[in-house]
Amino acid sequence: MPQLKMQVVLKAEAPIAVLRTRASSQFVKTLDYLPGSAVRGAFAEIFINKRGTEDPDFKHIFVEENIWFSDFLPNYADESPLVLPLSAMACKRYGLSHTQSVQDRLIHEITGAPRSESSKRCPECGEPLDRVSGYLSDLKTRKNVKIGRQLRMHVGISGTTGSAMHGLLFSYEMLTEKETPAGGEVTDMKFIGTLESDSGEVLEALQKVIPSREHLSVGKARTRGLGELSIQYHEKLKSANSFLERWDNFNAGVVKHGGDPQQCYFSIILDSHLALKDRLGRPVLGDIQAAHLGLEESAQVEICAAFLAPVVVPGWNAAQGLPKPDTHALSRGSVLTFCAPETLKKSLRQQVMELEKQGLGERRAEGFGKLSVCHPFHLNI
Ligand SMILES: [Zn+2]
Repeated sequence: MPQLKMQVVLKAEAPIAVLRTRASSQFVKTLDYLPGSAVRGAFAEIFINKRGTEDPDFKHIFVEENIWFSDFLPNYADESPLVLPLSAMACKRYGLSHTQSVQDRLIHEITGAPRSESSKRCPECGEPLDRVSGYLSDLKTRKNVKIGRQLRMHVGISGTTGSAMHGLLFSYEMLTEKETPAGGEVTDMKFIGTLESDSGEVLEALQKVIPSREHLSVGKARTRGLGELSIQYHEKLKSANSFLERWDNFNAGVVKHGGDPQQCYFSIILDSHLALKDRLGRPVLGDIQAAHLGLEESAQVEICAAFLAPVVVPGWNAAQGLPKPDTHALSRGSVLTFCAPETLKKSLRQQVMELEKQGLGERRAEGFGKLSVCHPFHLNI
């Protein structure tokens, strides 16, 4: 659907806790980003308070899903960071703080070419490399986006006696201000994401009701002042599309490291969780194939490397305050690579470009199913 993309920055005005699981255990961790579903819910809440659910704009935006809300990710700059793919490696001892050590093993996985001994070690300290996860601010500086965390204790209070209830002491984690890469200095905690629509009027209707600088609240304990963020809308993004360049560079990289020049290759990083179902309605997880992407020539398109992780996303119906069924998905950061005969290149390239624009699978209005094709990060080898 979406033709128009608007960048939005949410600046934290208070600590934030977006719980990873339902609060059934006594220690609950927070996510380090704001899922599109949570941001969309917060926008909808403000909209309902101002206009009610019968408002035609409300129906258009939220019921008919004419705006897609992405996940909102932490960064220092007003740009989306890179969620490191599961194929990423960095210094085993110092992790992403040794920026020179950050590399990707996808292309070696595709071609099976051996890696030199020196490339298996951190160029800064000589320690071996290991798998790594997190965010890079951008590909040039490779700064690791770090977020401060704190624990908050909470005592359950009995509604009848007004005193602390036995067994109801629990703690949860909160995101606080962000640390700068150098450490110590404190900066604003910002989360960057996009709103997408096929209509500029719909995006304008939303901004009319919820203008820049308005506050919204996301996550746990909102009544106690947690999770408050202020909105900054940025300009509509022109889709400067580097797709063909990325495709060519990726293929050149694979062939350079031993790939077959008679084949064409493309990789997909999941930028958000992918909730995909097969024809029988079962979730598609580790058994994902080209056919699940809806490609015409899928019989001739093979998976040649994959780094996949499943994830269970707990559902929550904010309006009713009740749990919803869990969603079984492939986790963001998962990577897939396909290869096919070179003769199919033109047709495949066109279809995959469209796939990158449209996303894949269910719950796309809530940020699921976003992907990047032939990301230049894979050339860090
Ligand atoms: Zn190192």
